[in-house]
Amino acid sequence: MRAFVEVDLKAIAKNIRWVKRGTSAELLAVVKADAYGHGLVPVAKTALKSGATWLGVALLEEALILRANKIKAPIIAWLTPPGEDFVAAIKKDIQLSVPSIKHLKLIEAAGKKAKKRPLVHIEVDTGMSRGGILDEWDEFLKEIVKAKVEVVGFWSHFARADEPGHEFNNKQEKLFNQKLLELMNVGIIPKYVHLANSAATLTNPGVHNQIVRLGISMYGLSPDIKFMGSGEELGLKPAMKVKALLHLVKDVKKGSPVGYSGIESTSRDTKLGIVSMGYSDGIPRPTSNKAGVFVAGKRAPIIGRVSMDQFVVDLGPDSKAKAGDIATVIGGKGYSIDEWASAAGTINYEIVTRIASRVPRIYV
Ligand SMILES: *Cc1c(COP(=O)(O)O)cnc(C)c1O
Repeated sequence: MRAFVEVDLKAIAKNIRWVKRGTSAELLAVVKADAYGHGLVPVAKTALKSGATWLGVALLEEALILRANKIKAPIIAWLTPPGEDFVAAIKKDIQLSVPSIKHLKLIEAAGKKAKKRPLVHIEVDTGMSRGGILDEWDEFLKEIVKAKVEVVGFWSHFARADEPGHEFNNKQEKLFNQKLLELMNVGIIPKYVHLANSAATLTNPGVHNQIVRLGISMYGLSPDIKFMGSGEELGLKPAMKVKALLHLVKDVKKGSPVGYSGIESTSRDTKLGIVSMGYSDGIPRPTSNKAGVFVAGKRAPIIGRVSMDQFVVDLGPDSKAKAGDIATVIGGKGYSIDEWASAAGTINYEIVTRIASRVPRIYV
C-alpha cells in the first residue's frame, strides 16, 4: 500500500467520553463527509458504543449507508434539497430537517406515500443566512400546525461559536429561544431542541439543550486554533494519521530545480525523497516549504510543487531514509493536521475531509 490513513478509533471513543462528562445533553455524532474523512461506518459504530445516542449527516445517501449497515440509532439528515427520495428516507426511519415550507410539503407527501408519519426537525435561520426558515416563519407556523408530520426537534446552527464570548452568539441564542416560544405558542412542543456544535459544546454549557452535535471535537481537533487553542489543549486526541511510502531516494547536487516550473532549487548537495501522495490524494498544493513529512527520525520539508500523485521532500544530506520507508505525512510525529491547515491557508476540517477515497483507511 503506497499510502494509507490510520484511524485511531480509541481516540474517537475517548474524545466522546471526554465531552460527555461535561454535559447532561444527549450526544449526536456528526459523521457527514465520510466521518470527516475517518470512515463513516466504523466511526458511527464507535461513537454509538462510546456514549453517543444520535447520528447526524448532511446527505440522505450517508444516512442510507448507515441503515444498510444495520445501524438502528436515530439519524438526522439535514441537507436534502427538493428532489431527494424522501419516501426512501421515511421508510428507513431517517429523520429529516425542515428548512422551508416547500420541504415540509414534500416530506408530508412522501409520508403519505410511505404510509408512515415523517419524523422531522424544524430548522430556523438565526443569523447565519444559510440553512433554515427565515422569511417564511409566520406562514410556516400556520402550515406546521396542520401538517401530518411528527415534530421531534427544533434546531439552528451557530455562525461564530468558535469565537466564544462573541456577541453574535447571544444574538443567535435569543432569536432561537424566541422562535421556539412562538412554535410552542401554536401548540408544537419539540422533544429535542439543539443548537450546539463542537465549539459551543466545549465553551457554552448554557446552549446545550437536549442534544449537542459533535463534529470536529470527536475527531480530536479544535474548532478554531486561534480562539480556542489546539485539540490537545482542549483535552482531545487527534484520531487521524496519514502515511505514505517513499517511492525513491536520490542524491542531488546543490542548485537542482525540483518539480514543475522549478519554483524551488536545492540549497546544498542533499538527498531528496519522493513521497507517493499528491494533491489528488488530498495533499494541498500550496504547501511547498511550509509542511512536509517525518521519516528516518526527522522532519523533511516539501521542496517544489506538490504534483498530482507525488511530492518531493528534502531529506538532508545525512538522512538514513531509503526507498520503501514509511513516511508520516500528517499527524503523529509528522506535521500536525493544524500545521498542514496553516500551510495551505485553510482549516483542519478541510485537511481531514479532503483526504481522497483512493487512500485506504486502516483502523487501529
Ligand atoms: C457539521 C455540522 C456540525 C458539526 O460542527 P463541528 O464544528 O464540526 O462540531 C453540527 N451541526 C451541523 C448542522 C453541521 O452541519
